[in-house]
Amino acid sequence: MRKPTRVVLSCLIFALAWGLHPGDSTAFEQIDALFVLDASSYEDTLRAEEAIELAGGRVELIFPNRVIIGQIDRASVAELRRDDTIQGVEFGEVAPRAGLARPNSEERTAIDFWNELVTAPPVQRTEHLEHFMMEGAARPAPPMHPSLRARLNAEQVLTPKMSGKIALMVFFVESDGKIDPETENWGNDWKMIKKQVVTGLKFWTSNAPKSEGLKFVLKFTKPKKAKVSYEPINRSSSEEGLWISELMTKKGFPDSRVGSGATYFDQVFAHNAKLAKKFKTTGGAVSEFVVASKNDADHKFTDGAFGYAYLGGWFTVMTYGNNGWGPERFNLVQAHENGHLTGEALDEYASSGCSCGETNPKGVKNKNCAACSAASCVMKDNSAPICKWTRKQLGWKK
Ligand SMILES: [Zn+2]
Repeated sequence: MRKPTRVVLSCLIFALAWGLHPGDSTAFEQIDALFVLDASSYEDTLRAEEAIELAGGRVELIFPNRVIIGQIDRASVAELRRDDTIQGVEFGEVAPRAGLARPNSEERTAIDFWNELVTAPPVQRTEHLEHFMMEGAARPAPPMHPSLRARLNAEQVLTPKMSGKIALMVFFVESDGKIDPETENWGNDWKMIKKQVVTGLKFWTSNAPKSEGLKFVLKFTKPKKAKVSYEPINRSSSEEGLWISELMTKKGFPDSRVGSGATYFDQVFAHNAKLAKKFKTTGGAVSEFVVASKNDADHKFTDGAFGYAYLGGWFTVMTYGNNGWGPERFNLVQAHENGHLTGEALDEYASSGCSCGETNPKGVKNKNCAACSAASCVMKDNSAPICKWTRKQLGWKK
């Protein structure tokens, strides 16, 4: 649906109502904003994204098709509201549905996240936890199946980096009891983890230099659509291929679709490629598997792993409780894993075995490794700073 074009006069009245004048610097300060869209397709979402950026705003998180979270200055709002894809620009708490008819899972999560952000912003990330709390070291991503390399646009999915538009699909995985005894159920807990995922991503988008144009398009696969025959938390992380392959097959990406000798990595790769194409990404697409673990004593796989990512690769795996981090601090683990997954950043904590001379796939040294630096960093202890060396590893220019 299109709204009639508003006349210039209404903009003037709006500007006067805000009491704006050229000397009012706060009016031009970029602040967090919720954009509610009048969009019936992803094409409309793209048009809204363009309008926000043309007005000088920043798009950070896209929840197809009708919600965007980003930043804009108050002075540009009147101009933006003239765009027929922008239904509303909000800076404060909104009604539970923000005026949207039948919001989908992504849109509901965006609105819930937003209301928490503006009413009870997350506490400063100053926790310094022991190294035993950290996840297993980042794993190198295996080479891609040759037939995929030939068929796909390698740039879209091969070089995920911490810039541009990146699509992220989150699967909330649990067993259906067909092979392994069913010991876990997501119930409603996945709804809270969805918001934690968003918090972890907002950490990156709001800290990235604007010139990187970093934004995420989010999609969630609900637990009942992500059931597998195995109970992942009762398995070793080295058996991830059992259930990831099954899940990918269920989603329409059997190994036969990829080619002879294809692995589950290739299946995920094919899935991500489709995601990247669908959402017209510029920075690639990745998958995230979050494993139900509420009834597990330590929230770890049987080999002790609980959160890990393939370096600049296809996917990350986390659990509901992530060892001692707990669901309420899931966002910290999310942020760390995204450093590996979409940025190729290396671990910096001592027990990861990092070394100051090692280099990430972009050839950047790991000079904030605990062996040569005591400085905090998101890749060392999940704390707030993004240190100089991590920034370089992400490919950020400043
Ligand atoms: Zn790590």
